[in-house]
Amino acid sequence: MTHAEDPDRPAQQVVPVLIVGAGPVGLAAACALHRRGVPARIVEAAAEPNRGSRAVQLHPPTLQIFRELGVLDEAEKLGLKVRATNYHLASGRRLRVELGSENEPLMLPQEQTSRLLEEALERLGGRVERSVRVVDVSESDGRVSVKVESPEGTELITADWLIAADGVRSHVRSRLGIEFVGEQVPAHFLLAEGRISGDFEPEAVHYFLGHTGSIVFAAMPQGRVRISGAVPPGYPLTAEGVQQLLDERGPGHLRILELDTVNEFSSQERIAATLRSGRCFLIGDAAHTHSPLGGQGLNLGLQDAHNLSWKLAGVVNGTLRPAILDSYEPERLQAAAQIVRTTHRFLRVFTLGPAAARLRNSAWSALEATGVLRRWFVPLLAGWRVRYPDVLSEPQVARRSAQGLPAPGTRPPRRLAEALAAAEFRLLTLGPANHGVVQRGRDLGVLHSDLLTHRHIQQPGVGFVLVRPDGYVAASGTTPAEFEQAQRLLARITA
Ligand SMILES: Cc1cc2nc3c(=O)[nH]c(=O)nc-3n(C[C@H](O)[C@H](O)[C@H](O)COP(=O)(O)OP(=O)(O)OC[C@H]3O[C@@H](n4cnc5c(N)ncnc54)[C@H](O)[C@@H]3O)c2cc1C
Repeated sequence: MTHAEDPDRPAQQVVPVLIVGAGPVGLAAACALHRRGVPARIVEAAAEPNRGSRAVQLHPPTLQIFRELGVLDEAEKLGLKVRATNYHLASGRRLRVELGSENEPLMLPQEQTSRLLEEALERLGGRVERSVRVVDVSESDGRVSVKVESPEGTELITADWLIAADGVRSHVRSRLGIEFVGEQVPAHFLLAEGRISGDFEPEAVHYFLGHTGSIVFAAMPQGRVRISGAVPPGYPLTAEGVQQLLDERGPGHLRILELDTVNEFSSQERIAATLRSGRCFLIGDAAHTHSPLGGQGLNLGLQDAHNLSWKLAGVVNGTLRPAILDSYEPERLQAAAQIVRTTHRFLRVFTLGPAAARLRNSAWSALEATGVLRRWFVPLLAGWRVRYPDVLSEPQVARRSAQGLPAPGTRPPRRLAEALAAAEFRLLTLGPANHGVVQRGRDLGVLHSDLLTHRHIQQPGVGFVLVRPDGYVAASGTTPAEFEQAQRLLARITA
């Protein structure tokens, strides 16, 4: 008899939220829920934290999450800031694209990210339950029943809500019968990490765009570098093989001194057919996967956790109505589709044959010369261009940007976002008076909600922006009617 079946055992408590998988995304969700007072349980099949080399690039929107979770300072101490992307063309020409402080990623190996998040979780009173594997999931009577196996035996956990963060081969996803729609990416990649000698700019990611093949090359903390490029199947996974790749496709003066790892990998481009089944949500690689080129996967997953956690915590704590959870899927599906599209195109550009590679390099020069790379591509890769469908507004409210104000579903510009650094709904009013929003002598009104904090910025133009806990705009406008719509929006979603 397993301990869960022991009649002398006290009846199990229902946990408000069970998280499956303590990869970085599950850990971030656990931290965010604990921060909001929801004591989520988190179970992990592996006995030890994963030490493999995977995500290294953390983009600025992710760093904002790290700030909220209290791990940014330590991450910045351990990591390495990237200031530029250098595209080295076959002609020997170098296109240097300065990223600008708002787009600079931090290079930090995934195992360190996970460690920081797990430590933060422990500070918040949570704990990863290791060697606990979820083997079955079912939903009935408004609860989720989860069967887990561990060295102690089998246990049946009952939860109000379940978050599946169990990675690309998600067992929960398959138990829920959710299709993982997409296909295998035809390219095959080598990924090596170690130390090299030779002169290179450490604060840049280097793309060597040759006519017969490309490599990407970036410095990592502690004097290590990462080298990656598409290779034919069977390519030698040795120091000689990596050196040959560097010699043939790189600048020609870099020597491998020592390798920590050489691996090969291929990837898939897939998005789950749905991100929610009843009381179960998919986040992270369980929800989507794509080529790691461009360093997007972990960032996308952490934004899933960020999007879901304030909504779920609000519902569990009784401050938000359950209907708010309906917005998770359309918002995050749109974000996933955008990233999968972007990485798909980026991968194709990176792996072109010789003739097309020549055209690519000419086009890339033109994009750099006209500033398109800097103005459009850099913020796209940084993750700033994700825009949510406006599912919270009333259907008749047109989706538009009112007189220069940020539209619903977007992030407010930096100058406004900085005035709003708090964790709940935030109302920013703009106008000449410092007591509220005034237009042609009339107050726009007052938004009532216990969840709201208010800031006013004195300026000639009048308006308001209502920002959600995850930093996205919920409503904006300049007229009393728009202000009333924002009031109704808050009333609809708050309990
Ligand atoms: C080579 C490579 C390079 C990459 N580079 C980047 C990059 O630079 N930037 C970037 O953003 N992304 C990158 N990625 C992607 C990134 O690594 C993933 O997106 C990220 O690991 C996803 O995190 P996750 O928490 O969703 O899943 P995972 O990290 O896979 O974690 C899932 C966890 O669930 C556990 N689990 C699985 N099944 C069960 C079960 N039944 N019961 C309990 N626990 C279970 C697993 O043991 C695991 O710990 C890269 C990926 C690869 C392969």
